[in-house]
Amino acid sequence: MPKLSKRTETFTDSVIRRMTRVSLKYGAVNLSQGFPDFEPPQMILKRLAEMPGENVHQYSLTWGSKPFRAALAEKQTRFMGHPVDPEKEIVVTCGSTEAMMAAMMTVANPGDKVIVFSPFYENYGADTILSGAEPIYVPLVPPTYDFDPDVLEDAFRQHPKALILCNPSNPCGKVFTRAELEFIATLAERYDTFVITDEVYEHIVYAPHQHVYFATLPGMWERTISCSSLSKTYSITGWRLGYTLACPEITDRIMKVHDFLTVGAPHPLQEAVIPGLKAGQDYYDGLLATYTRKRDLFVGGLNSLGLECTNPDGAYYVLMDVSEFGYKDDLEFCEVLARDVGVGTVPGSSFFREPVNHLIRFHFAKKDETLYDALNRLESIREKIPARK
Ligand code: GLN
Repeated sequence: MPKLSKRTETFTDSVIRRMTRVSLKYGAVNLSQGFPDFEPPQMILKRLAEMPGENVHQYSLTWGSKPFRAALAEKQTRFMGHPVDPEKEIVVTCGSTEAMMAAMMTVANPGDKVIVFSPFYENYGADTILSGAEPIYVPLVPPTYDFDPDVLEDAFRQHPKALILCNPSNPCGKVFTRAELEFIATLAERYDTFVITDEVYEHIVYAPHQHVYFATLPGMWERTISCSSLSKTYSITGWRLGYTLACPEITDRIMKVHDFLTVGAPHPLQEAVIPGLKAGQDYYDGLLATYTRKRDLFVGGLNSLGLECTNPDGAYYVLMDVSEFGYKDDLEFCEVLARDVGVGTVPGSSFFREPVNHLIRFHFAKKDETLYDALNRLESIREKIPARK
């Protein structure tokens, strides 16, 4: 057989998605891959039920159906406080996964450098490999997950083509402050760098923190590709609806990349989600109240078992310290946890560039009863997983 492609030789499968399969194998409560087990809003499901009779079963326009883009532009204009042109500044993609990949392909040439904060969401590694770029990792330092401004500027001195900004951050729950974002903006301007954002948790930011859209900082609209999705905001991760927002010149190129990558996102689903995009502020207040309660329930539950974890400012993940169990290999620990305790998690090492093996990631986008089930199982963690010497 001839050799398979060089650029994909170093690929492993996604550990996040592998842990979903491991959870299924052991019948574990799956708190690994982040997706809800509760229903999407009824307004969306009701509209979905009407789709069979409508004329939406062929391709939409490659960069997204017109009514979807109109509703999205209106919503984002409202939240971002910056006008979004539905015709020239939006590309609807198959999830933010495609949005990020299309963004990377649009800006990076093989050999270009791209700044990635570590810990990072694991797809960014694959995005850089597939676009031929080389990551420069800049640590977000625990326990506050702040970056060292000098280390960041050193990375910019290598003249990267882009910086990837996941805000709020998966997996550490950091919400970047306006001052931090302004500092990044200053460097992006000084070193003439694009910024590609992943803002899929834009509506899951816990008080008193506030989400600042990077693209809206002075001068940044022209050098930012904002990527986001409807997955987390409307609890529809399986619908694969995401998008890029960028100025017309950048968007024109993303449209072409996206056209050849996937042609388009699912047309009936774009139409069905429109009532969500048109929802008022009370929908977003309700979503945040739900996740605030779940965060307090889950973090409080872990802490009451004497298990130490992060308390996120945004998104729906916690990192728990498992040093006491003495495992050198966190992937092995997560297998044992799924098998013997019955809770599925993701090993922290799949998010960190640094050699971190003492953290595991849970998500809490689950029904309260699922979270209680997981916490009940975790009560016996020390009994079921004896510490290694
Ligand atoms: N973003 C989610 C996570 O980090 C789901 C990722 C995915 O599988 N697309 O778990």
